[in-house]
Amino acid sequence: MSKNQEVTKATKTVWSGEKEFLSHGATQVPTVFSVGYGYEDLDHWLDVALGKEKGHIYGRMSNPTVQSFEEKVKALEDAEKCVSFSTGMAAISNTLYTFLQPGDRIVTIKDTYGGTNKIFLEFLPKLHVDVELCDTTDHEALEREVEKGCKFLYLETPTNPTLKVVDLVRMIKKAKEVGALVVVDNTFATPINQNPLQLGADLVIHSATKYLGGHADALGGVVCGSEELVNQVFHYREINGATLQPMSAYLLLRGMKTLDLRVQKQNENALKVATYLEQHPEVSNVYYPGLVSNEGHDIAKKQMRGFGGMLSFTLTGGVDAVKEFLPKLTYAHRAANLGAVETTVGPPRTTSHVENTPEERKAMGISEGLIRYSAGIEDADDLIADLEQAFSYITVKA
Ligand SMILES: *Cc1c(COP(=O)(O)O)cnc(C)c1O
Repeated sequence: MSKNQEVTKATKTVWSGEKEFLSHGATQVPTVFSVGYGYEDLDHWLDVALGKEKGHIYGRMSNPTVQSFEEKVKALEDAEKCVSFSTGMAAISNTLYTFLQPGDRIVTIKDTYGGTNKIFLEFLPKLHVDVELCDTTDHEALEREVEKGCKFLYLETPTNPTLKVVDLVRMIKKAKEVGALVVVDNTFATPINQNPLQLGADLVIHSATKYLGGHADALGGVVCGSEELVNQVFHYREINGATLQPMSAYLLLRGMKTLDLRVQKQNENALKVATYLEQHPEVSNVYYPGLVSNEGHDIAKKQMRGFGGMLSFTLTGGVDAVKEFLPKLTYAHRAANLGAVETTVGPPRTTSHVENTPEERKAMGISEGLIRYSAGIEDADDLIADLEQAFSYITVKA
């Protein structure tokens, strides 16, 4: 390999962030469960405690396994720094609470993840933070609201569960004009398909529970960005305590080694399934940015390297057809998670947006008969054959 060659994401998923943490010649990062770290030299202890020297003091602040995981995510997002959390929601809430004060204003979209939307509608107003929720694909409205001035522009793209696409370059440009910080939840895209920091965003968030871990066996969250900003978020977390557990960090780290492989396959599978569903008579709408017919396709093509593993669709027979159809799928968990190696399906009203009222869901354009589909790494032909046989059980007609 030539010295100047940029290391690809596939290689980074396997190698990045680990070397410094290997010990005893082990080729895998050890899971360190110790809560405390002992020191013989009190001056050295003090220097580590003050952050003047590298090292660990207490598990709430830092841990070697957790740090190795953060280093790998940092490499994949090409960030200066990354800090991890116990869950994706902890990453989101801690980031918001680090920077927002009473009287501040935040501009965002209606289609954020259900829990995030709850923070905007329920918790931030209690702190007298003014939240402006815009129609997700109405870029003119977003620009108008940003122009009025705001501390944060908070975005998610593609969105959950209707896979709407926000033009990041356009919105980031507008935010910079008024000095607003841009935060992007990059969970659905993954760093394999999209890097908002490279497009000018200030902070990128992931629910590591989803694609980064990829095996639905560990919760976690991350925030990536400049050292200056991430250090502030880290300080909030070390005091408030939403720390990632070492065992979870180990599972996430191991899962991430196959991130590139998994996401490439999930990109392919989702496109094949979406293309199949689009021509099916039982299906009324398919939402997938990889489809040429999709409203957000052209923007997605500009800012994404792949269109991701998530799609959603509605049945012509509505909720009753969904109830007949979903239980007949063999190769799909009917569950609330997403981004795992297994295909997972569920209606948003029982999964991502269960915290919202039917009225709130309606306002977000989430019909009660919508099905969210997280393509796994199975063979696409098997997934399509499975959908085909399940469709045959639908008796409800439109
Ligand atoms: C799941 C999810 C979250 C929340 O993450 P948790 O790990 O469940 O707390 C946030 N944003 C998006 C887009 C998600 O899919």
